[in-house]
Amino acid sequence: MDHDVIIVGASYAGMSAGLQLARARRGVLIVDAGERRNRFAAASHGFLTQDGVAPADIADTARAQLMKYPTVQWHAGLARRAQSVDGGFLVETDAGARHGARRLILATGVRDELPDIAGLAERWGRHVFHCPYCHGYELDQAPLGVLATSELSMHQALMLPDWGPTTLFLNDVFEPDAGQHAQLQARGVRVVRGRVARLRGAADVVMQDGQAYALAGVFVATRVRPGDLPGQLGCALEDGPMGPFVRTDAMKATTVPGLFACGDVARPAGSVALAVGDGAMAGAAAHRSLMFGV
Ligand code: FAD
Ligand code: MG
Repeated sequence: MDHDVIIVGASYAGMSAGLQLARARRGVLIVDAGERRNRFAAASHGFLTQDGVAPADIADTARAQLMKYPTVQWHAGLARRAQSVDGGFLVETDAGARHGARRLILATGVRDELPDIAGLAERWGRHVFHCPYCHGYELDQAPLGVLATSELSMHQALMLPDWGPTTLFLNDVFEPDAGQHAQLQARGVRVVRGRVARLRGAADVVMQDGQAYALAGVFVATRVRPGDLPGQLGCALEDGPMGPFVRTDAMKATTVPGLFACGDVARPAGSVALAVGDGAMAGAAAHRSLMFGV
C-alpha cells in the first residue's frame, strides 16, 4: 500500500486526525476539495482560542502547522470513488489517480440543502443561519425569525428567544398542536401562518400576501447529506434529525473494519470544536489500529 492512512476531507475534522498521525510519523495522504461547510460565514464562533476568527483563517493556520510534518502529502481535489480491497482501501481522485492505504478516514462533512425561498441562499451564513450558538449572539437581541422546514423547527423556535424576540413562520409546513402552542406561548414566540414569498433587506421576511416582517436574522433547519463515499464503502448509516450520518463507535470506527469517520459526516449535529475532537479521536484510533490491528 502507498500510504498508512488516506484522509478524505481536510477541514477541521480531517486535519485534526492528520495531526495525530503526522506526530506518530505515519504516512498520510490528504485528499480535500476545499469546500468547508461554514465557508459562507465571515466569522466562526464558539471554538476555544478562535472565537470570531474567519473560518478560512482557522483552516489555513491548521494546514500550515500540519504540512510542517514531512510524512503528510496533500492532494487538492475530489475523491470520486473509494472501495475496500485486500489489506486496505483504494481511493480514486477526480484527476484519475488511484491511491492505496491501509486505513481510511472519512472527514467529508455534509452538504446543507436549503429551503427553496427567493433571497434565502444568498443570505446563508450572513443573515440566515441554522445554529444560534454559532451566530445568535451577534444579532444583538434584535427580532429574529424561524422559517419552518419541518416540525423540528419547533426546537429552534423554542431556543431562539434566548437570543432575541422570536417569530415562527409556519410556511404551511406544519401546524402546532395545542401542546406545542402552549410551549411556544410560554417562551413568548409569535406564530405567523401563511406562505413566505421571499427575503429582502438584511433578513426581512415578506409573505405571499405582501405583509413584511423586519428581522435581523432568520434561522432554518437544513436537510444534510453525507455524500457518496459512505455508501460506496458500505458503512452503516444512522438517521439523525437533519439527515443520515455515518455510524461510529466511541473511537470513531465505522462498521467497516479499518474505516474511520469524524466530524459532521459522523454525528447528528456538529461544530468546529466537535469536529476537531472527533478528528483527534479518529486519528489516534487509526494509528492504534495500524499498530495493533484492532
Ligand atoms: P467541513 O468543514 O464541512 O469540511 C469537509 C471537507 O471535506 C471540505 O473541505 C470538503 O470539500 C471535503 N470533501 C467532502 N467530500 C469530499 C470528497 N469526496 N473528496 C475530497 N474532499 C471532500 N460551527 C462552529 O463551531 N461555529 C460557527 O460559527 C459555525 N458557523 C457555521 C455557519 C454556517 C453557515 C454553517 C453551514 C455551519 C457553521 N458551523 C459552525 C458548523 C461547521 O461548519 C461544521 O460543524 C464544521 O465545518 C464541520 O467540520 P468537518 O471537518 O466535519 O467538515
Ligand atoms: Mg474535515
